[in-house]
Amino acid sequence: MKFATKAIHAGQEPDPTTGAVMTPIYQTSTYAQKSPGDNKGYEYSRGTNPTRKALEDCFAALENAKHGLAFSSGLGATDAVMKLLLPGDEVITGDDLYGGSYRMFTRIFANFGIRFHFIDMSAPENILPYINDKTKLVWIETPTNPTMKIVDIEGVAKITKSKNVLLCVDNTFASPYLQNPMDLGADIVMHSATKYLGGHSDVVMGALMMNDDELYKKLWFIYNATGATPGPQDSFLVLRGIKTLHLRMKAHCENGRKVAEYLKKHPKIDKLYWPGFEDHPNHAVAKKQMRDFGGMISFTVKGATLEDTFKLSSRFKVFTLAESLGGVESLINHPATMTHGSIPKELREKVGVVDSLLRLSVGIEDIDDLLEDLEQALA
Ligand SMILES: *Cc1c(COP(=O)(O)O)cnc(C)c1O
Repeated sequence: MKFATKAIHAGQEPDPTTGAVMTPIYQTSTYAQKSPGDNKGYEYSRGTNPTRKALEDCFAALENAKHGLAFSSGLGATDAVMKLLLPGDEVITGDDLYGGSYRMFTRIFANFGIRFHFIDMSAPENILPYINDKTKLVWIETPTNPTMKIVDIEGVAKITKSKNVLLCVDNTFASPYLQNPMDLGADIVMHSATKYLGGHSDVVMGALMMNDDELYKKLWFIYNATGATPGPQDSFLVLRGIKTLHLRMKAHCENGRKVAEYLKKHPKIDKLYWPGFEDHPNHAVAKKQMRDFGGMISFTVKGATLEDTFKLSSRFKVFTLAESLGGVESLINHPATMTHGSIPKELREKVGVVDSLLRLSVGIEDIDDLLEDLEQALA
């Protein structure tokens, strides 16, 4: 099945009892049993729920994976992956991660004796010196949030496979429409489904996709035993959101390209981050592993102080100043104080998250209105 068909149909059949075309919201915590253990595969909704199961099968199909699991947030999904590890284990990850992932690794799991190496992932072989017999997981994000660095997934996967280390890719920024890490050798794909998958800024959710049956069993055990699973109402919203994922992503990419090109010519713009530019340091890798370049763009204004940047971020009329990304509406964000506020200043500045950086999540409004808004705000 092709992507658009999977987005609309995967995991979903007309309801067997009524023929309802849309998956019903099974708003129930528990299921009747004939005698103890004699049930229809559903016992208690923390572990299994039919609405969530339809969504999980759809998640798996979108990433060309065998199994999918839905979590109550992207960080809930990340937390489950980390619980595969034991004290003494080591993780290699990027130095330019989503702030919440960094916070979880350094302030939760580091306290349980897991060691993290935050390194420059711009070349796959950079991970080699950090691999030893305690290394259990490589965690990558590409494109990175918010400086749009690109990691060569296939290159990293070749190394992790040869060293028997798990590779998990946070695919939130690209969405499965633009990039499928499982096809490039990843063991687990993670999403904040809050973003492009849900797509309407109305739900918080996470996802994991994997092929290996044993790994699925382990992750399902963690999911059920620790309980960060979403309810049927939210599962329904994401199922519905995904039905237009391909149409939305096409529009995000088209608008994103036009906004990036507009900013490139703007005399006030200093740094500009978007993987579609030919002079992006890893453009060739982006071109190889992504189908298009998406609607996430970050920039700095020449000579802007923190105060100037705050003022600019409040001048937009169509772009809304808010956390999050990937919804139909355009958002603007100040990473240093918002999404990446939990990363120490020296660390974030080292990777380009300076006080004057702003990040756009280009939505799918009319491009003329978006460009006009940028023009008036930057004037
Ligand atoms: C938002 C985000 C997360 C966290 O997901 P939540 O749904 O907010 O818990 C993880 N990674 C990236 C890249 C994100 O943008």
